[in-house]
Amino acid sequence: MPYFAKIIYNLRRTGSSLFTYDCAHCGKAVRGRALCEECEKLLMPAAEENENTVSVFYYDSAAKSALLKHKFSGCDYCADTLCDWLCVGFEKLENQKFDFALPVPSFGVTETKLYYLVKDFCAAKEIPFKPSVLKKIRKTEKQHNLSAKDRKENLKDAFKASSAVAGKTVLLIDDILTTGTTVSECSKTLLEAGAEKVFVLTVLKTKFDYEE
Ligand SMILES: [Zn+2]
Repeated sequence: MPYFAKIIYNLRRTGSSLFTYDCAHCGKAVRGRALCEECEKLLMPAAEENENTVSVFYYDSAAKSALLKHKFSGCDYCADTLCDWLCVGFEKLENQKFDFALPVPSFGVTETKLYYLVKDFCAAKEIPFKPSVLKKIRKTEKQHNLSAKDRKENLKDAFKASSAVAGKTVLLIDDILTTGTTVSECSKTLLEAGAEKVFVLTVLKTKFDYEE
């Protein structure tokens, strides 16, 4: 990181008075993070999905507000908070050694908000960041309007993994886990390309299970 950018980053992360924002959920002034103390109390830790898949909080209330603000207004302090949450979730996977981590890819655009979030997370946890090993190779319909069967069909062969994943333990990161169809398809693609193990970490998870 360039020297000047690093100074700004450190001021922001330490909650300098130069950087006062509105809480993403209630609008109250906060420093250096997405949510005020009261709204942080609304965060609900997500139940464990399985031993290979960890989500940090449920997609509800204050957590939802922080994620939506990050997605649609692109504020730096929301990104910092989401990165901190990923680090919290990662504690459950920390006895695992990862060769690298990557975001769930989007079609036609590499440097998404998720890309930068995973990049920051990798820097914080000193895990190599390798977004290029998995690509989305065709455009697909939005998943949320589709039935469970159509979701799978929609994503079939939509991803391609490079041979660089062979024999590697990979951490795949997404912002939100809904039905899990997307991360399942990405994991399948990575495993078929020879990855030894794939773990999934998501910031949030929808509260209600959808029928698969
Ligand atoms: Zn608040």
